Amino acid sequence: AVKQDELEITKQYVDDVFEIMRRRNPNEQEFHQAVKEIFDSLVPFLAENPVYRKNNVLERMIEPERMITFSVPWMDDEGNVKVNRGFRVQFNSALGPYKGGLRFHPSVSASIIKFLGFEQIFKNSLTGQPIGGGKGGSDFDPKGKSDTEIMRFTQSFMTELSKHIGPDTDVPAGDIGVGAREIGYMFGQYKKLRGAYEAGVLTGKGFEYGGSLARKEATGYGTVYFVDEMLKDKGLSLKDKTVVVSGSGNVSIYAMEKAQELGAKVVACSDSSGYIYDKNGINLDLVKRLKEQESKRINEYLNENPQAEFYEGCNGVWTIPCDIALPCATQNEIDDTSAKILVSNGVIAVGEGANMPSTLEAVDVFLNNNVLFGPAKAVNAGGVAVSALEMAQNSGRISWTFEEVDAKLKEIMKDIYSTSMEASEKYGDAGNLVVGANIAGFKKVADAMITQGV
Ligand code: GLU
Repeated sequence: AVKQDELEITKQYVDDVFEIMRRRNPNEQEFHQAVKEIFDSLVPFLAENPVYRKNNVLERMIEPERMITFSVPWMDDEGNVKVNRGFRVQFNSALGPYKGGLRFHPSVSASIIKFLGFEQIFKNSLTGQPIGGGKGGSDFDPKGKSDTEIMRFTQSFMTELSKHIGPDTDVPAGDIGVGAREIGYMFGQYKKLRGAYEAGVLTGKGFEYGGSLARKEATGYGTVYFVDEMLKDKGLSLKDKTVVVSGSGNVSIYAMEKAQELGAKVVACSDSSGYIYDKNGINLDLVKRLKEQESKRINEYLNENPQAEFYEGCNGVWTIPCDIALPCATQNEIDDTSAKILVSNGVIAVGEGANMPSTLEAVDVFLNNNVLFGPAKAVNAGGVAVSALEMAQNSGRISWTFEEVDAKLKEIMKDIYSTSMEASEKYGDAGNLVVGANIAGFKKVADAMITQGV
């Protein structure tokens, strides 16, 4: 048992570092939230292992190794000059080159990028792959922009970003608002600026120029593989379960696909305008066509399936009774009110496909009501895990088949589940995967940091 004084000293240490973080990053609510979740989980583990406190690992972790903010000037189709703000946070390189996506969305701020980058450190550690933590993006809004505007913007963004990245230093990928098209334009621009073909500088590339098969599917598939592990552990399965998914982007679409493949019935998904409810089960081919090819709003689903229902606003999606909820849209999309509704409707499991989609209060509601809860940094790690596999294929100048990559992904998700579960059992909160994932992710990074010296 941990000595009482050590527990007290540790609590004080964690509080002090949290205070330092708050003072240095005022008004960054999302970043504070991500740090708080990790810190709360770590207290018993840190008390048992004073080496981390003695090396002041927490304070070293909350300070990004580098935070780059830059201007992105570009010209729209009418010839007007516009300016957006670009970010890249290079948070932690203990385990490998910085790795993490780029998000283009009007909500992007230093706080959002830092919360995502901080989460990425632990997520990437959990994958077992040699990747550090980073994240970037811009407050640019891709909605309604023409293809040429997207190209000019992404080229300008990369002109600046290229000075800070490379296959062995920092490897960006996609996130909200950044998909195969944007990665393609950015890769083209990077290659021109470098005068060299460095395939491993970006992941999420098209297959024809160094991308990995199954990268597109990886986050969504991985989310469902993880949920499947949680269910199996309780003698349950996805077969005939009712599933509600939020979002209709890349994560959401492939989570729906895998859930359907495993016999579940997916009855709802959403976009920023609202959600559709199709009690017969979502027609995924139609959602794919609307979203991947035609960039349409989700309500257009009703044109071909008039028996389905559309409702405005996104939070309402959580009022639909379901066995399994997969939030795959964005941060803080489930608050405690939505969590309570899900619980009262009998939800069995929640798997976070998006990054930090549940507020701290919502997570408490799930845990206090014995819902099987899979936290984002474990559940959605399949995307970045396959990004690391893409880097490996680029280094070896080889490409694996879809089946090979998918099999590796499944193995990785199983490992993340068992590692997180074991950590939760070892440190006194058996079955709490929030605590387990945080401790398991933290330990590896912290040990590497200590080994590499100050
Ligand atoms: N944006 C994804 C994430 O949140 C993937 C990052 C990557 O592949 O580097 O993990």
